[in-house]
Amino acid sequence: MYKFEIHLHTNNCSACALSSSKEMIDAAVKKGYSGIVITNHFYHGNTCVDRNATWQNFVGTYIEDYEDAKEYGEEKNITVFFGLEEGFAPGKEMLIYGVEPECFLNHPEFIMMSAREKSDFVHECGGICICAHPFRNRRYIPDPHTPPDPDLFDGIEGFNLANKAEENEKAFIFGLNNKKIIVSGSDTHQKENFGNAGIAFYEPVTDYKVFIDKIKKSDFELIYPNEI
Ligand SMILES: [Zn+2]
Ligand SMILES: [Zn+2]
Repeated sequence: MYKFEIHLHTNNCSACALSSSKEMIDAAVKKGYSGIVITNHFYHGNTCVDRNATWQNFVGTYIEDYEDAKEYGEEKNITVFFGLEEGFAPGKEMLIYGVEPECFLNHPEFIMMSAREKSDFVHECGGICICAHPFRNRRYIPDPHTPPDPDLFDGIEGFNLANKAEENEKAFIFGLNNKKIIVSGSDTHQKENFGNAGIAFYEPVTDYKVFIDKIKKSDFELIYPNEI
């Protein structure tokens, strides 16, 4: 199997992340993964990039982090794709896959968009939206039990390493009931957490369009921590 971690933060862009993209790639090698998608917190999230910077510089920091990771990944034989995690309501976040970074660069109005508009934008750019950890119950989330609007999302994160078992169970059932793609992600913010979640393909995937296509078809298996 060809394993990918698809929910991962790096300390160049996410304020809560402890590891660099290089450390994450080294962890991927160690744990026998084939690739990663970097999904750093974006404008409406826990970013450490200056929101007052020009849009060019703001998005540029994400692109630079991704490009450095991609280059290092090539050396280490780890495929690296560009994703984002963006807030769409207080305490609620969407994982975005399959949108070229230039799409964000060319559309600064993205940050003004409603959840519906963000979802439409991602789809127009050829990407997909996955609802990150729905039903997560934390103090910073005002309405943890309110289900997400299923129409906004292609998929649901049915397993998130940072969530409690009952939160994940609720998310998984919600995904099944709404006939959504279900994925697993570790939401790793540090190299030590790498390798406990993600998705595994049956064949090598090095092209982002192929990756998106396989996710759309649920042509993968879910990775869970060993102790579950
Ligand atoms: Zn975070
Ligand atoms: Zn995250």
